[in-house]
Amino acid sequence: MKVIRAKVLGFCMGVRRAVDMAEGELRTGGRRVCTMGPLIHNPQVLESLQSQGAEILAEDNLPENLAGVTVIIRAHGISPILEDELKKRGAVIADATCPRVKASQMKAQVLSRDGYILFLAGEKRHGEVIGIQGYAPDCIVAANPDEAAAAAEALFHSNPGVKTALIGQTTISAEEYTRIGEGIKKFFPGLEIINTICGATNERQDALRELCGEVDAVIVAGGRSSANTRRLLSIACEQGKPAWLVESPEEIPAEIAAYNTIGLCAGASTPDETIGAIEKALLVMD
Ligand code: SF4
Repeated sequence: MKVIRAKVLGFCMGVRRAVDMAEGELRTGGRRVCTMGPLIHNPQVLESLQSQGAEILAEDNLPENLAGVTVIIRAHGISPILEDELKKRGAVIADATCPRVKASQMKAQVLSRDGYILFLAGEKRHGEVIGIQGYAPDCIVAANPDEAAAAAEALFHSNPGVKTALIGQTTISAEEYTRIGEGIKKFFPGLEIINTICGATNERQDALRELCGEVDAVIVAGGRSSANTRRLLSIACEQGKPAWLVESPEEIPAEIAAYNTIGLCAGASTPDETIGAIEKALLVMD
């Protein structure tokens, strides 16, 4: 069996920065270290951090007293209300919010303050979306073009003259984002569309499309809870390739042995070690 890696795969800048920051805090020692929710969407990384002493805090069950505890904000960011709450309870904040997500949060805050009604394109329950929403409490979250158009129509009936803007979750596909913008523009032609799509996501998606031309099947390495990893799986399927998402070598399906050339790609939260272990396991499957 031949395995070809995508030209771009694995950790993006924001995830690497968050993991490095967490490991640095744990190495420093002397303080209890917690992450606000799971730091990134990858089970191996979370297990590794927990084995080094990190604890995961749940928003609906925050300890009353966090005096002197270092709390690391994940790459997806959190809402300002939650950050204030952590500080009130005594936490020392280590902010690992990805700079690109931070830029979306700041843009949302400014637009909201300037009287815009903000449309936020993305998955309603995704941490990044919830965090950005915190900076623009009146924003309208739309998961797809139909939802966006329906919300825009309702807004048009209640407030036709309002200024509107669109921000997207950094991992949304460019095509979906364009369609969502078009749905809103039917009612608000002056919609300001802010380009918030992260280049890291596109780079991994483009590398996978290129890879699909050279392989018989695709393995996507990464966590199932990672939106950008799941998106890679959809792209491989759209390209007509048999494809599987696996979190570890043990999950590689036996059917893969029927294919000669396997493409290997990985989401932006998949560590190098996991990619290497999956590649090694594929190579001995002949
Ligand atoms: S995918 Fe982009 S926005 Fe998201 S954490 Fe990585 S670098 Fe940041």
